[in-house]
Amino acid sequence: MDGVRNIVILTGAGISAESGLRTFRADDGLWEDHRVEDVATPQAFRRDPGLVQRFYDARRENVLAAEPNAAHRALARLDEEWDGELLIVTQNIDDLHERAGAKRVLHMHGQALSAWCLACDARHRWTGTLLDGPGCPACGEVAMRPDIVWFGEMPYEMERIFSALARADLFVSIGTSGAVYPAAGFVQQARSAGARTLELNLDRSQGSQWFDESRLGPASALVPLWVEEVLSE
Ligand SMILES: [Zn+2]
Repeated sequence: MDGVRNIVILTGAGISAESGLRTFRADDGLWEDHRVEDVATPQAFRRDPGLVQRFYDARRENVLAAEPNAAHRALARLDEEWDGELLIVTQNIDDLHERAGAKRVLHMHGQALSAWCLACDARHRWTGTLLDGPGCPACGEVAMRPDIVWFGEMPYEMERIFSALARADLFVSIGTSGAVYPAAGFVQQARSAGARTLELNLDRSQGSQWFDESRLGPASALVPLWVEEVLSE
């Protein structure tokens, strides 16, 4: 691809929806029939930790049962074969990019399969439940919470993301609504740094006007075609 060496890809709910994983919907504010305020804020966790732990225990189970789809596999292929810089920034908490084989992945909103100990700050890969109050493998305290960035909390690794955006020649947004900041602002960051911008989405997103090009359709169809295009140029 002409003059493109550094690629930043942002992925969102749309790419995992085709693997059967539902996520927070901005239009009605519900996530698996729960109000976001009840399960995805630090206040909710203080008020009713059992409800929140049960909710993420169920999300963890869903993630373990899901399989990567053609879009995840195509991005893993790009990661494998692209010798320029590449960063896949995902808003998703599942591990489907990694299970498809992608390595250069950053989870800005945390991960369902990770537990974070509030006593010693250790993070552990976690595939079981937290509702039953297991002790932290590092310090033994019963103080683990889902390693998820809740509403009102700072997304992970913003510095690394902005530095990648500042160097990007091409920014591609896949399956995101363009409604949730700060991710919704990445396209503008990339543009002002001189990157070309492309959106692959089911519908036009709220930020569509910021993209040089929008291709509409399911990620499992659009992403493999786009990756093929990038790697064959
Ligand atoms: Zn600990």
